[in-house]
Amino acid sequence: MNVPWVSFAPMQKEIKDQVIKKFEQMYEASTYIQGEEYRKFNEKFAKYCGAKYCVGVGNGLDALMLILKAYGIGEGDEVIVPSNTFIATALAATYVGAKPVFVEPILEEYNIDPARIEEKITSRTKAIIAVHLYGQCCDMDSINTIAKKYNLKVIEDAAQAHGALYKGKKAGSLGDAAGFSMYPGKNLGALGDGGAVTTDDKDLAIKIAALSCYGSDYKYHHIYKGNNSRLDEIQCGFLNIKLDCLDKWNKERNRIAQRYLNEIKNPKIKLPVVNKNNYHIWHVFAVRCDERDALEKYLNDRGIGTNKHYPTPMHLQGAYADLNIPKGALPLAEEISSTELSIPMYYGMTDEEIEYVIGTINRF
Ligand SMILES: *Cc1c(COP(=O)(O)O)cnc(C)c1O
Repeated sequence: MNVPWVSFAPMQKEIKDQVIKKFEQMYEASTYIQGEEYRKFNEKFAKYCGAKYCVGVGNGLDALMLILKAYGIGEGDEVIVPSNTFIATALAATYVGAKPVFVEPILEEYNIDPARIEEKITSRTKAIIAVHLYGQCCDMDSINTIAKKYNLKVIEDAAQAHGALYKGKKAGSLGDAAGFSMYPGKNLGALGDGGAVTTDDKDLAIKIAALSCYGSDYKYHHIYKGNNSRLDEIQCGFLNIKLDCLDKWNKERNRIAQRYLNEIKNPKIKLPVVNKNNYHIWHVFAVRCDERDALEKYLNDRGIGTNKHYPTPMHLQGAYADLNIPKGALPLAEEISSTELSIPMYYGMTDEEIEYVIGTINRF
């Protein structure tokens, strides 16, 4: 049997007619930038997240970068980021001229460990980017308490957390502002690149809308040196359709994850831990194994697709050689990168496929 690491096919099949119809409508209407679908998406996604405002932008990296820029964070400032995340989180700080400062995770939950944040705060620290990695929210109460004490902004990187809950509240409503990615593989993915910022801060939302469109508040009137980072009208049309399905799709991922958690029983495999405060939306089902590369080959040889998130931690990437952080300095991020394996997780996996994955892993 072949079980890919991810497949969009079951999801795509379900909405194909709606998507094609929407495409035809939009093609006829010839509105490609910031039309009715864009306004509708901003309104719908803000409401979905329990935030007052949403501003669609070009992608997830820009969402984070524009939040930092709108807060005036830049040259000479430091931004706390987790040591275990996709590089975009740190690059957002780098792009505005600030320095990313890495904080280690809670190993079993993979997210930033609030107990390790304070020791990294200096007089230059301006913000904490809390990444809800793999679809599980960070310990936001602890993070918000620290931020309040040191007067820092809390920015959620919710690129992997559309619909995730912390104490009953949605990702995107848990800090000062949140950046989302709608890259196709995310739980709410466009048919191309996309991103969004959510916040309750009206001034921030207005500023980000301007920054994402050449810094203009209305046409040919420029109040900031802005970017061009707009969310395409056509992607908004597709996202409006997919947003209506998101809860159902996340729920199915949850069902698959529960089966993995209950039925994978192999002492060599360490399962992810779900914090009791969280509703996890399983963007990635990440296990750890000391013999990770052997497990990967074993599964791939048996037709089971896998992935690694992420094979090289950011501080050991060439891109961040200038930070001069030696190997061994962030041991938990390094441990995760050398032991983590992501196993198949997508809407539409059949019970037969789920059972094949579980049985094969249990025989490793
Ligand atoms: C995908 C991702 C991003 C970047 O999103 P893009 O839309 O690809 O720019 C940022 N942070 C995390 C944690 C991500 O997974």
